[in-house]
Amino acid sequence: MNIHEYQAKQLFASYGIAVPEGYAAHSADEFVTALAHFPDGPIVVKSQIHAGGRGKGAFTNGLQGGVKLAQSKAQARELASKMLGNTLVTRQTGPEGRKVQTVYFDCAAAIKKEYYLAVLLDRASARPTIIASTEGGTSIEEVAAKTPEKIVKIHIDPSLGLQDYQKRKIAFALGFKGDLLKQFGKLVTGLYQLFWEKDCSIVEVNPLITTLDDKLVALDAKVGFDDNALFRHPEISALRDLAEEDPKEIEASKYGLSYIALDGSIACLVNGAGLAMSTMDIIKYYGGDPANFLDVGGSASKDAVAAAFKIILGDSHVKGILVNIFGGIMDCDIIAQGIVEAVKETSLKLPLVVRLEGNNVINGKKTLANSGLPIISGNDMSDAAQKIVALVKET
Ligand code: ADP
Ligand code: MG
Repeated sequence: MNIHEYQAKQLFASYGIAVPEGYAAHSADEFVTALAHFPDGPIVVKSQIHAGGRGKGAFTNGLQGGVKLAQSKAQARELASKMLGNTLVTRQTGPEGRKVQTVYFDCAAAIKKEYYLAVLLDRASARPTIIASTEGGTSIEEVAAKTPEKIVKIHIDPSLGLQDYQKRKIAFALGFKGDLLKQFGKLVTGLYQLFWEKDCSIVEVNPLITTLDDKLVALDAKVGFDDNALFRHPEISALRDLAEEDPKEIEASKYGLSYIALDGSIACLVNGAGLAMSTMDIIKYYGGDPANFLDVGGSASKDAVAAAFKIILGDSHVKGILVNIFGGIMDCDIIAQGIVEAVKETSLKLPLVVRLEGNNVINGKKTLANSGLPIISGNDMSDAAQKIVALVKET
């Protein structure tokens, strides 16, 4: 789960990490109350969406930049009105962009230099890892591609936590001395503590800045959480913004389905995460592209199968469906009945290939064959994958 910058900055502040003073507004009325906190003068107006690259993004209404410096309160209000309710397109949103539903007014900082600092889970080393660079403000992927020597990485042993020598190593790499070294030690300690205590998957500050009077401040804040640990943090779950999430994924979670939308054209409906992964692989292997990951679980009901069909068909990129079910706990005939019902209910026009195997498979196949519906049977996984790829290519 991701949260907005303004929420992440509140978390930062609660861990003693310096952030500019700022106020969020969700409506034009709230602009007035939020701006009342500021003296008249420069204010940074920041669109709140769950995507980065806002500074260099553009609104579909012509406004350039999702992060803008206003010279006065009046100008801040004017800029905020052009952002709120409008669509911002950045390199992370895709061409459809995101509708801005919250605007954040941030005290304008006098920037001396921008840095990059993040704590994330490095899956290769299976450790929390700190990544830092003197090249802040830009995309870290670009720094990694062009000047990898400007990135430092420190792996942390979770049983020991972040050690003082590791803090110094990063600070020296960033060129901090004297009081800045002290400030950095405090800041990175807070960041790691936040990462650890709240079960984060990432805590990223880009840019971390030094101000003209040598204060270290987090100017941007991105925090992502491990969904599997959210049950331990009701206060974090409360920060969830459903408007930022794919409605299909929200619908899926209501039925206990794991659904993740992808860019391809072949929808998959599978039971079990491992089988779902290998189904996506085999579609790719035969030259197709999966439109989603969808695991209906080990013991899905007829209703869950029907719901899964509707979610899949809500994606306009889908040109064909592959159902791949291994009936271990599940009865293949129940699944077949669910499929027949769903096909009738949605008056499915797209090609559908079904591969069933396992418990009560003979009756399951009979149910499909006797339905009178144009459902194509796959003999095994590779036969089913080849059939759906060929059918989608034809259309
Ligand atoms: P994004 O990463 O989505 O583009 P940022 O919050 O990093 O958004 O803002 C983009 C740039 O705007 C920053 O790199 C920084 O130069 C500037 N900026 C952001 N917030 C402030 C602020 N409070 N004061 C001064 N400059 C800011
Ligand atoms: Mg940023």
